[in-house]
Amino acid sequence: MHSSIRLGRLFGIEVGLHYSWFIIALLITMSLGSQFQASHAEWGSTVIWSLSILTALLFFVTLLAHELSHALVARTRGLTTKAITLFALGGVAQIEKEPEDAKTEFLVGIVGPFSSAVIGCLCLAVAWALGWRMGAAPETPLHAMFVWLGYINLMLAAFNMIPGYPLDGGRILRSILWLSSGNVQVATRRAATVGKAIALLFIAFGIFRFFGGAGFGGLWIAFIGWFLLQAATASASSVALTEGLKGVQVRDIMTSDCVTLDGNMNVEQFVENYLLKSGRRCFVVQQNGEIAGLVTPHEIKELERPRWPYMTLADVMRPLDQIHTVTPVTPVMEALETMGRDDVNQLPVVSGSHLDGIITRANVVQFLQTRAELRH
Ligand SMILES: [Zn+2]
Repeated sequence: MHSSIRLGRLFGIEVGLHYSWFIIALLITMSLGSQFQASHAEWGSTVIWSLSILTALLFFVTLLAHELSHALVARTRGLTTKAITLFALGGVAQIEKEPEDAKTEFLVGIVGPFSSAVIGCLCLAVAWALGWRMGAAPETPLHAMFVWLGYINLMLAAFNMIPGYPLDGGRILRSILWLSSGNVQVATRRAATVGKAIALLFIAFGIFRFFGGAGFGGLWIAFIGWFLLQAATASASSVALTEGLKGVQVRDIMTSDCVTLDGNMNVEQFVENYLLKSGRRCFVVQQNGEIAGLVTPHEIKELERPRWPYMTLADVMRPLDQIHTVTPVTPVMEALETMGRDDVNQLPVVSGSHLDGIITRANVVQFLQTRAELRH
């Protein structure tokens, strides 16, 4: 996820905070603060506000534990997690590959709600040990904190069990459909359909509540629905993509007549004579007879115009050793995943030390369009 702050590493996994998280942290702190103010004004502002901030921070820790549980179970099943990002609606553990079997999907999915439920029960147990009793209003600041954390984690567990893919519950549903149908694509499509239906219910219910006078709470439910709808649609189209690209290799769709340019050419010449004239978007840069890197409009945009005559392609190119390469027989789906991870639009296709061509996102789009047209 973009625009997030890196917090550090836990068990070798990058942990980040998306900016939207701060809005929620602020909302939680404010709402807890005013809640405590209303019920226990006698605690005094200092206690109330430090309690609210501490509670919001601990909530963040429990969310992190939820995501970490996904990542650690994924690891025991041979899947690595690149990063965990916390954002407004919870967290995402970016597991690098899709699970290859239904059992892995099931275990990775269910451990999240399970962890939240365990954490919720533990918090309520701590409150109980401190003298709080079920059903009674919290009397001390510590009761209030543990009771709130307890219930919110139980709610989190319940919310995540909603069977709308890509929520945890949707993943669990998908794994069960996968197991019963033996076909991951069919399972994902069905789970995504359920996800869309649930999302629409959320939106309808939220709007209904909003006009019924629930105000912000109603809009919030509708917003969660909208988020779920986006996510379900995205996963459905990623399945369509996987299906469309099944068995297609890089060599089937790559561009092999790459324009190779000398590394000593200056950027101005390059823009005028090649970039603007040819309509291509990716050029290979050669130095001393060897492929040295790639240059695309992206690299040129980074450079201020007055400097164009004084910089060479070798200065601005993306060096080959910093780019992932694929081979002619790499599955196209895998190449797309690499582009996504590296946030680039093209990859050089290399066999041995020889550059065979370039595969771009545009190649993939063209291929899928042609296929779709032929099918009609
Ligand atoms: Zn989860």
